[in-house]
Amino acid sequence: MDAIPGSPTDTVVMKFGGTSVADPARIRHVARRLVAAREQGVRVVGTVSAMGRTTDTLLELAGRVSPHPDPRELDMLLSTGERIACALFAMAVHDLGHEAVSYTGSQAGILTDAVYTKAKIREITPVRVLDALERGKIVLVAGFQGFSRDTMDVTTLGRGGTDATAVALAAALGASCEIYSDVTGVFTADPRIVPDARKLAVVSYEEMLEMAASGAKVLMLRAVELARGHGVRIHARSTFSDEPGTWVQETALDDGRTVRAVTHSLDDVLFTVRGLGEGKRSSAAILRAVASEHVNVDTIVLSAEKETVELAFSVAADDVLATRRALAQEEQLDSSEVREVGNLGKVSVVGAGIRSHAGIAARTFRALEEHGVGPRMISTSPIKISCLVDRADVERGVRGLHEAFSLSAAAAEPPTEG
Ligand code: ADP
Ligand code: ASP
Ligand code: MG
Repeated sequence: MDAIPGSPTDTVVMKFGGTSVADPARIRHVARRLVAAREQGVRVVGTVSAMGRTTDTLLELAGRVSPHPDPRELDMLLSTGERIACALFAMAVHDLGHEAVSYTGSQAGILTDAVYTKAKIREITPVRVLDALERGKIVLVAGFQGFSRDTMDVTTLGRGGTDATAVALAAALGASCEIYSDVTGVFTADPRIVPDARKLAVVSYEEMLEMAASGAKVLMLRAVELARGHGVRIHARSTFSDEPGTWVQETALDDGRTVRAVTHSLDDVLFTVRGLGEGKRSSAAILRAVASEHVNVDTIVLSAEKETVELAFSVAADDVLATRRALAQEEQLDSSEVREVGNLGKVSVVGAGIRSHAGIAARTFRALEEHGVGPRMISTSPIKISCLVDRADVERGVRGLHEAFSLSAAAAEPPTEG
């Protein structure tokens, strides 16, 4: 997805998410933003999500028709949401006296692997996009979708996938990348849970990757991976104001903090598989089976006592059916050895300073304890500490951690004692 040689750098990719395009008035508002950018002399590519809750509604509809919808047909269904929004945008831009053209992912040359419902973009050949830009048109590309040459089928990119469309298009066109949503940037925590959360001016790719992986859905994980891989700076900002947002880029400013943000997820499920070990099924085989169903395994804990080996791992609720399918196919595995616990969530602290400061884990656990939150499982990376907790405790945990690390205050956090 390297930039096309000779392609202009005066191109901007502007991405608008579902809430930003939820109704006709908002579509007309966003169309005016696209036109305003075009009138400043830049070439404009807009990529938009499906309107409001369209994707959820289509998923619910599929579930009412079929208990286990076929993934290929799901992609045929889900990709329509973005196509609708895209065509409506082109109409709204026409009404403002500018030329516009809408393309599906495949018309825009977005080529993916063949994994239905969570395909990865492999390559973009934006011939038609470049041609339309050359003719002065505003180009609208349907987000969240592509096309697999292997199967000749439409694919979708996973929830929040329009962010990935935007970054990949920006990389291919050598364009700048602006991701607009209903928040003014990336905050120290989800502002819906912590109203006095602070907007971060700059976040490094490394920190944003950990934040996205641990649930901060303001940017999709895969989009941040693509941005880092192709050196695309993302400006995450608001659809409804002109204030500067958050820059996601290689390096962040050193603000003297260890923890920069608290993130959370609300849809984790814990699987525990007992009876593994010598002469029986191995934990590697279990994880391989789960991976072959394209499940992203999150926290993993392996405990061995005498000959008994127990493997525990968490997955997102979206991946539960695929995980059950993988485990059911394991012939040497007795179903009584598998336990599944739902209604879980995760609270995490993220910050590049965690790697070089002792005592952050102790402070995290103390804050959770003080707020009556008991972690069930913990996982760490050099710059993140994540705790799997009961879903009912997540919001309390997020607020407690945000306070404990003084994240609302503009000044640096107080030093860690003891
Ligand atoms: P869009 O539909 O535009 O893609 P999303 O709903 O995917 O927008 O992402 C924006 C939402 O992300 C916000 O409404 C906010 O509730 C949530 N969010 C979670 N964590 C954060 C965070 N750290 N900073 C900003 N927003 C966050
Ligand atoms: N419409 C898709 C979703 O709801 C993709 C996106 O919004 O980016 O996940
Ligand atoms: Mg999103």
